[in-house]
Amino acid sequence: MKILVAVKRVVDYAVKVRVRPDRTGLETANVKMSMNPFCEIAVEEALRLREAGAAAEVVAATIGPAQSADTLRTALAMGADRAVHVLHDPDPTRPLLPLAVAKILRAVTLQEKPGLVILGKQAIDDDCNQTGQMLAGLLQWPQGTFASKVLLDKEKQKATVEREVDGGIETICLDLPAVITTDLRLNQPRYATLPNIMKAKSKVIKKVTPEELNVDIRSDMEAIEVNEPPKRKAGVILSSVDELLDKLKNDARVL
Ligand code: AMP
Repeated sequence: MKILVAVKRVVDYAVKVRVRPDRTGLETANVKMSMNPFCEIAVEEALRLREAGAAAEVVAATIGPAQSADTLRTALAMGADRAVHVLHDPDPTRPLLPLAVAKILRAVTLQEKPGLVILGKQAIDDDCNQTGQMLAGLLQWPQGTFASKVLLDKEKQKATVEREVDGGIETICLDLPAVITTDLRLNQPRYATLPNIMKAKSKVIKKVTPEELNVDIRSDMEAIEVNEPPKRKAGVILSSVDELLDKLKNDARVL
């Protein structure tokens, strides 16, 4: 069985993001970019399933500009077998929306015919948490979102997924093929070793365009303006509980 993993290139989680002077979006020029952390967890899980004998091949896919190839190389250096790069250079005011990404991933899925597609539960740049659900909907495949544990039964063609929900852990059973999205506690992604980084350079990255996949990615949403959150005011140290109560009552008016 093949596993397809969707990986997104995003501003590195440790970078303090800045809004572009024209307020059309976030500054990405000369900013460190990395694989979305939830996608790293998705790659790791696919590799563990392959190493456990539950899958034969791991294919990483991304949709993005030429530089997104770096993200695919990272997935290949972690251990993915090959990659698919859907080339798309987004207009900053019209970023690719989850529905368009899901339509493209659907087309890639129909070409690759994986038994399982794993995505991150959310991309840390848009925080949408929609793509996996939309992909499952478009494919009419079952979905296990926010997975904190995944078990595959190759014989029965089923996946058992533990999901983190508000009340605890929900365990569900999915018929394969299925879509799974990863939560933070699913695993601890491995670091790529130097020999594997070297090996990744010779692995195959297939390039396609949304047009070649016959996918219409036109969006009906336009980002009007992006603004920094208001700066927090400095705090004050109060000398007594009475003073606190007074401030809550008369200044904040919450009592
Ligand atoms: P989102 O719904 O935007 O929060 O993204 C959820 C997940 O969808 C990500 O963790 C990725 O696995 C996948 N995804 C979103 N955008 C892309 C993209 N441009 N290329 C590849 N995968 C993506």
